[in-house]
Amino acid sequence: MARIVVDRIRCDGRGLCAELLPERITLDEWGYPLVDATPVDAAVEAYALTAVSQCPRLALALVPDRVDRRPVTTTTIGSRTRG
Ligand code: SF4
Repeated sequence: MARIVVDRIRCDGRGLCAELLPERITLDEWGYPLVDATPVDAAVEAYALTAVSQCPRLALALVPDRVDRRPVTTTTIGSRTRG
């Protein structure tokens, strides 16, 4: 399975993704996406891929669920393993 992630630097907050995938993406008060971080199941995957492909800023992505998403801190640098 995969998760939807948003690059908040690229995103311009116009909200197309929330229109295309309202099951997983809502907008905050400024119009920036709030993404449900639970894994995307097969029933939603096609819609998620559409939202990713239609993002005008290339700010959305589907990433494999097994990616290590621990925040990088000075204590975790060097402790990560490849998997
Ligand atoms: S469609 Fe892309 S640029 Fe627009 S709000 Fe969603 S993530 Fe941001």
